[in-house]
Amino acid sequence: MTLDVLLRKATERLVRAGSPSARLDAEVLLGHVIQRDRTWLYTWGDKGCSTWQQARFDALVAARAQGYPVAYLTGEREFWGLRLMTSPDTLIPRPDTETLVALALSRAAQPQGRLLDIGTGTGAIALAFASERPAWEVTGVDLLPAAVALAQKNAAKLGLGNACFEQSDWFSAFAVPRETAAFDVIVANPPYIAADDPHLKRGDVRFEPASALVADADGMADLLHLIVTAKAYLADSGWLMLEHGHDQAAELREAMRVAGYQNVETVRDLGGHERVTLGFLTTA
Ligand code: GLN
Repeated sequence: MTLDVLLRKATERLVRAGSPSARLDAEVLLGHVIQRDRTWLYTWGDKGCSTWQQARFDALVAARAQGYPVAYLTGEREFWGLRLMTSPDTLIPRPDTETLVALALSRAAQPQGRLLDIGTGTGAIALAFASERPAWEVTGVDLLPAAVALAQKNAAKLGLGNACFEQSDWFSAFAVPRETAAFDVIVANPPYIAADDPHLKRGDVRFEPASALVADADGMADLLHLIVTAKAYLADSGWLMLEHGHDQAAELREAMRVAGYQNVETVRDLGGHERVTLGFLTTA
């Protein structure tokens, strides 16, 4: 069978299984098996592949037809142009989160500084920022040792020596606030989905760790906790930037103002949803 035929059959199977991105899924999975990119597949679709590769592709398409995320099947996902390793221990990096990276880059325009990413997962936000700001000291922390190990592997593979990762329960790795750890930017994409949100029963999120998705108090608990606790770790005129759900912005802006942050505002993602709320803290 040619690659074109394999792709067509797999696409049909994934359409029947209800995948919203059947053709793309098939291309990414086949490309992964034969170690070629999608452009190569368009050019060389009349070539064949080995029986072993065909069997491997079949197995991946079958798992995808069951709903298993493509990024877990291939073990990678592109984010901010970086190829990141993924694992079921962490959230799969999403395009929406690039909004947070773009914002951090535009507000933290100084050549040097310190950025902290709380709940870093694959390390996506920290690594994207570090790749654009080589002179910044970038730290990512996560509660899960498996996530920390993954983020460290990603940093090493990408050669981003200015990003380091450590295990931490929120800010616990930074024992003495302010004196030892004053960050110019603190970013987070914390869990923010309500436990009873029907969104959790659909698509890739079904296979992602609940610890990275679900928060108490209708999804608000961790966001609100960060607004209060981050204050002790921000440098003077430091920024806090939080990714959140599309309907959480007004409450977060209010909470940030009450907590003493200034210039509080919300930025929309490419889909037009309110996605990141930010403010800065000054002692002056
Ligand atoms: N934006 C993600 C989703 O809706 C959730 C990410 C998160 O909880 N931090 O699937």
